[in-house]
Amino acid sequence: MIPECFRKAVTFSYDDGNEQDIRLVELCNQYQVKCTFNLNSGLNASTEWSYKGMPVRRLYLPECTELYKGHEIAVHGAFHRNMTELSRQELYEEIFSDRDKLTEIFGSVPVGMAYPYGCYSPVVTEMLRKAGICYARTVHSSHDFRRQQNLLCFSPTCHHDDENLFSLAETFLHSDSDEIQIFYIWGHSYEFDGNHNWDRIERLLDKIAGKPDIFYGTNAEILC
Ligand SMILES: [Zn+2]
Repeated sequence: MIPECFRKAVTFSYDDGNEQDIRLVELCNQYQVKCTFNLNSGLNASTEWSYKGMPVRRLYLPECTELYKGHEIAVHGAFHRNMTELSRQELYEEIFSDRDKLTEIFGSVPVGMAYPYGCYSPVVTEMLRKAGICYARTVHSSHDFRRQQNLLCFSPTCHHDDENLFSLAETFLHSDSDEIQIFYIWGHSYEFDGNHNWDRIERLLDKIAGKPDIFYGTNAEILC
């Protein structure tokens, strides 16, 4: 929950647990903002691919407890499978084993989730409920800051490459609504390498961090 003295909150959500998270965490720490990292505990350093010609390697999560300290760890499926294409047993394993393995590595039980490939169904959300997951992020931009009713189909405000990112930030900063306003940004840190635009997240942080009237929390701290 957002502390009562705040009407505005900012949070970040980044997926897949790859090496570029190291640079992203440094930036988050420097600007004192919080991020939620959605991790695949079954894929530790096992796969490597390239994004727009830049190498992407998964981190070995048991060595990352210090790296992610102060941020939130959330479920992203043990093996990053499309959850709508799995049998009940496979779905159970994908969700529960990721939750349990992340708990073992990081020492606290994840309560959040981001859907691999953004895919979900009523069967998936029901399983998440059973796993004690209180919110799950989709990839549909809301371009909005209002609280949402259905947290298991949560729509982020926008992706960091959204053409409206800076105008949304401007609107958010100048909003004087009495309603709680949440600016929720998501992406993959390797996209900054591939698109050569680390300056984009730095410019955003320059703009929105360090404001006395904004609460900077993890997804769970803000949504649950
Ligand atoms: Zn992913």
